[in-house]
Amino acid sequence: MIANITIVGGTHGNETSGIQLVRNWQKFGVPAAYKGLNIDCYLSNMAAIDANVRFVEEDLNRQFTPALLARQPQCQEARLAHALNQQWGPKGESDIDLLIDIHNTTSAMGATLIILQADEFHTQLARYVKQQMPEANILVEDEKPPSEHAYLCSIGKRGIMIEVGAQPQGVLRADVYDLTERMALAILDFVNAYNSNSVPELPPCDVFRFIENITFPRSEDGERLAMIHPALQDNDFAPVSTGEPVFLSFDGEPQAWQGETIYPHFINEAAYHKLHVAFATATKAQL
Ligand SMILES: [Zn+2]
Repeated sequence: MIANITIVGGTHGNETSGIQLVRNWQKFGVPAAYKGLNIDCYLSNMAAIDANVRFVEEDLNRQFTPALLARQPQCQEARLAHALNQQWGPKGESDIDLLIDIHNTTSAMGATLIILQADEFHTQLARYVKQQMPEANILVEDEKPPSEHAYLCSIGKRGIMIEVGAQPQGVLRADVYDLTERMALAILDFVNAYNSNSVPELPPCDVFRFIENITFPRSEDGERLAMIHPALQDNDFAPVSTGEPVFLSFDGEPQAWQGETIYPHFINEAAYHKLHVAFATATKAQL
């Protein structure tokens, strides 16, 4: 039974689609079909939202590992994480059955559902969302146990993220907002079906399983030597095989991918600038 649901926007203060969806549902209420669910809509990082920035001091969505929650908070977002952990947790003992954290990305990832585990609940959820939104991507980040993740959504008994793009930081696009809302509604439809034991038997669906982040080529001084190759740009979740270009160096030379076929995503994500992450890789699997 999924009794308590918390829907969060503004974990990154310049990701407007989730912020606006939460504001609209706070103002007008969640759609009538979900009145039977106990849904709390919440904006998590108000200081960052007010400033229209991703975060004030540090990324709130990287503060929720057991180690960070156990130590004295050192910055504004760490203090906020501790407060949210008090309010909703503590992590591992939360009353929130499902925490849905809504994000958007500057990468062309379309409507992506990020799940942190591939147990029966999340498998059924993934198949259901994929059936309702065939254009959706399912990204599985189960390279570590959910409890080890630093994400805000990991406070809940179950935590998932909606990640939609491409949308520039601080900008609200109606098409991205629409995809965000449709995915949120598909998830809530699933919860209604799950609670009434009426989830249909669905066939396995394609998913992408996270492998690692790839950084831009850099000199010994840390200076970037290349940009994303135009053949890769905006082609999130399309396969890249060995020998295909992923970078274009500033002297005009393409740089090819070497290795197993990958499914890049978060390609040229603006927020990963400081980390020099160029894209993340995934394998394709069935769930
Ligand atoms: Zn985000």
